[in-house]
Amino acid sequence: MSQYSPLVIISYLIGPTLIIVSHIGALLVLITGLSWGSVLWIILLYFLRMLATTGIYHRLLTHKSYQAPKPVLWIGSLVAASAGQMGPSWWKAHHLIHHQYVEQDLDPHSPFTPAQGIKGFLWSQGGWLLSSRFFPEKLPMDVEKDTVLKVIDRLHFVPLVALGVLSYGIGGLEYLGAFFLSTTLLFHGVQTVNSISHLMGKQPFQTKDNSCNNSFVALITLGEGWHNLHHAFPASSRHGITLKDEGVAYLPDFTYGFIKTLEMFKLASKIKMPNENTLLARARGVES
Ligand SMILES: [Zn+2]
Ligand SMILES: [Zn+2]
Repeated sequence: MSQYSPLVIISYLIGPTLIIVSHIGALLVLITGLSWGSVLWIILLYFLRMLATTGIYHRLLTHKSYQAPKPVLWIGSLVAASAGQMGPSWWKAHHLIHHQYVEQDLDPHSPFTPAQGIKGFLWSQGGWLLSSRFFPEKLPMDVEKDTVLKVIDRLHFVPLVALGVLSYGIGGLEYLGAFFLSTTLLFHGVQTVNSISHLMGKQPFQTKDNSCNNSFVALITLGEGWHNLHHAFPASSRHGITLKDEGVAYLPDFTYGFIKTLEMFKLASKIKMPNENTLLARARGVES
């Protein structure tokens, strides 16, 4: 943490503070109630911001599973930051450490260490953000060199606050409460990849960890719950892949559909995916 200036420390700490505020603010809907309009607002904000987190922060920025023009990365990062997912440098730093040390002591959010059982679950479901693990050891140089991404990283809370103000402007306290509720649901949805997808599900591909393909997590995270495939092939743009009758079978993966749609509009290229021989070899535990 000593490598961070006081301003960066303050900027980063605003992130978990706003997530706590969102949890409390979500209670507003108990007072205001929810109209059909505000329910749609909750769903729309959840969906768009989840997609930016999975399709841009995770599969583009962190794993480079496809290529896209810079404005796609910048706009997507702004939307992901408005989800309360912190900035691009912080997000990528943590996620790369997760892949490097998966389920070992240095994994920032493993359900197996430093605690197990219900404590381990709560740790991986968000508790880790309230520990010293919150500050990554170092930030990724490629993101730090991009001035736009660096500004978004340090001012990550601005899009989130702006969206809250917009929500209030649209529908007063009811829509502000809907915004807080959507942000809280989104936060926990993303965290299920860290918790449930390392605890429960199927493991069609050989990995050195307990990562699982979990259909419930895949549903609420637009495809990220196919986490066993992801740990077996982190650079694959498609996560929804499994094995059936000794062959390869494809699973619903909305984020992959989004990437293919970007490709149709010439906004995505060089989409990476392992071929079926490679997938079958990994299923048998043969590195190829
Ligand atoms: Zn994982
Ligand atoms: Zn990943």
